[in-house]
Amino acid sequence: MSDQMISGAFRVGHGYDLHRLEAIEPEGRGRPFVLGGVRIESSVGPVGHSDADVLMHCVTDALLGAIGSEDIGQLFPDDDARHEGEDSRVYLEEAIRRVRGLGYELVNLDATVVCERPKLKGHKGAIREHLARVMGVDVGSVNVKGKTHEGVDAIGEGRAIEAHCVALIARV
Ligand code: MG
Repeated sequence: MSDQMISGAFRVGHGYDLHRLEAIEPEGRGRPFVLGGVRIESSVGPVGHSDADVLMHCVTDALLGAIGSEDIGQLFPDDDARHEGEDSRVYLEEAIRRVRGLGYELVNLDATVVCERPKLKGHKGAIREHLARVMGVDVGSVNVKGKTHEGVDAIGEGRAIEAHCVALIARV
């Protein structure tokens, strides 16, 4: 599972993830609501094998995509018991380690989280700071935006949460 040789002064990566939302365990199968490593009070939580942190997963995939690496599902299979309930921070740490191992550094990333509830306003600063700390970059390199889905489809009906991310890395 070695990373292939890559070229380019700059490389861009894209990440996307979605998780179902259910009532928090034991009423439903939802994990405690954690976004970008920050715990947010919520009656619903994401369903998933790890801690189901949709933002951490999509940022991880954006970094892995930028270096043409295997994706998060290949590196950390959800049928592997070792990843049950795991803090997704370890996935992001591995992704940035691979980026640096190939001689690149994160320039910036921009992520959008789409969900109806809970409201992300008031948490974005803490999420940016946490993601930046995990990756060892300045908080100015990490941006997080929140959107609703205007009440339509699964996300708008509060049954799912999704996140998108683009990341730019530069050879150092
Ligand atoms: Mg995921």
